[in-house]
Amino acid sequence: MMEELAKVVEKFAQFELMLEPDAAKLLCKYTQEELELIASLFQNKNVLIVTKTLVEKVMGEVEKSVDEEHGGEEDEEEIEDQSIRKKDVINVVYSMNNLKSTGSYEGFLSYFKSRYSKLVSLISDRISPRPISSLRKIGTSDDVWIAGLVSDKRTTRSGHVIIELEDESGVMPVLIPKNSFDDVNEILPDEMIGVRGHLNGEKRLFIATDVIFPDIPEKRYQKRLTEQNGGYVVLTSDTHVGSIHFLEDAWNRFVRWLNCDVGDAKTKRMARNVSCILVCGDLVDGIGIYPKQETELSIDNIFEQYKALAEYIEDIPAHIKIVMCPGNHDIVRQAEPQPPLSENIQKFFDDRVIFVGNPSLIDVNGTRILMYHGRSLNDLIPTLGLSYERPAEAMCRMLIKRHLAPMYGSTVPIAPEPEDHLVIEEIPDVLHTGHVHVVDYMNYKGVKLINSGAWQSQTEYQKMKNLKPTPAKVPVLDTSSLKIAMLNFK
Ligand code: FE
Ligand code: ZN
Repeated sequence: MMEELAKVVEKFAQFELMLEPDAAKLLCKYTQEELELIASLFQNKNVLIVTKTLVEKVMGEVEKSVDEEHGGEEDEEEIEDQSIRKKDVINVVYSMNNLKSTGSYEGFLSYFKSRYSKLVSLISDRISPRPISSLRKIGTSDDVWIAGLVSDKRTTRSGHVIIELEDESGVMPVLIPKNSFDDVNEILPDEMIGVRGHLNGEKRLFIATDVIFPDIPEKRYQKRLTEQNGGYVVLTSDTHVGSIHFLEDAWNRFVRWLNCDVGDAKTKRMARNVSCILVCGDLVDGIGIYPKQETELSIDNIFEQYKALAEYIEDIPAHIKIVMCPGNHDIVRQAEPQPPLSENIQKFFDDRVIFVGNPSLIDVNGTRILMYHGRSLNDLIPTLGLSYERPAEAMCRMLIKRHLAPMYGSTVPIAPEPEDHLVIEEIPDVLHTGHVHVVDYMNYKGVKLINSGAWQSQTEYQKMKNLKPTPAKVPVLDTSSLKIAMLNFK
């Protein structure tokens, strides 16, 4: 107890806050990360000495708001008028403006070093792994944790799984006995895992008794619990302008809604309070992206496609900011991370359009949204046996693995940047993807996972692959409650 109390007092001291002893006792049950958020709540309230009564009051508010969030998923019903909102503040926290991959062998080495060191520091919040090279010094009865990237995974004839686990100091074959770990199929090549266990008799094999992923903490107290500016953010993606399947009529209905020309009182009130629209890649259909695409293009010049998109964007009310990242149909490098669209494309658009890379972290009035086009869904969905109808399930794995594209060298080309920008270091309030053209969302430990669908009906290629898009549906996020309303413009 004394130790926990000291930790609480210390954490609050970092925020220049003093604690009444009884108040400190009440706070012992929270993790360091939670304490940080709680302390920041008090800091925002301008208190110096935190009393027991104050803690009870504030924690009451926090628990209530977390419960509400869990209770009422979706529902337009609960969306309130935000008309007293202050001016919108939209910040690009990071974008991919400074990419420097050279594709050299050294590049790959430093890329994997960065992937390892970022992820090992994340998993070290949960465990204290030992270096693999130090294992020879321990006895076979010692129970320890190790952590590293999965460099190989195979199943033996008798059904055990053997993983090569690699850290900075060495490689260790790890045996996961058959039926000992439910999530064994969730382990992907190149991702970070932590393994608990012991060495076998010859000390050549590590026998696993538990496996964990970096993951995110159980319950998060988010910034939105402090003073929030509010406002709505429209999440969309995959406009695919230039395709004969682009749903122009639906798009026009969407724009009319943004102009408050259609919809009931409630949705019009939302439209009035839209601060920005995030477009998560595949802005145009591009050219030569899939076999026989030319037979399905209405505009066969890529520059003309962007010009047409710019014209569609112009119909959106001028006060609404628009943030755009590229996808695999856009005219930037295919390898991820992708830089923002180049200057010679940006010039077609008006000033309120903000061009960012893929991925990017955007802060809208204090709500942090991680935008990633979502190409790795093509790896995660089939490998993990998930469904294209529920992309949010796969997005959930991105958070668990703390990586947007955990599998290296699969369908997603990944550039060997000196730094791995695809690691999810900061936990966002919202993870926003597109790419699979199916609208879906879910809540994972307080983070909203949203796949924002498309504006293109089924292509021949999708028909062949049996992919059924759900176009013209638009998730609208209330940034003060993180609730989502789904609007249908079909
Ligand atoms: Fe797309
Ligand atoms: Zn795509």
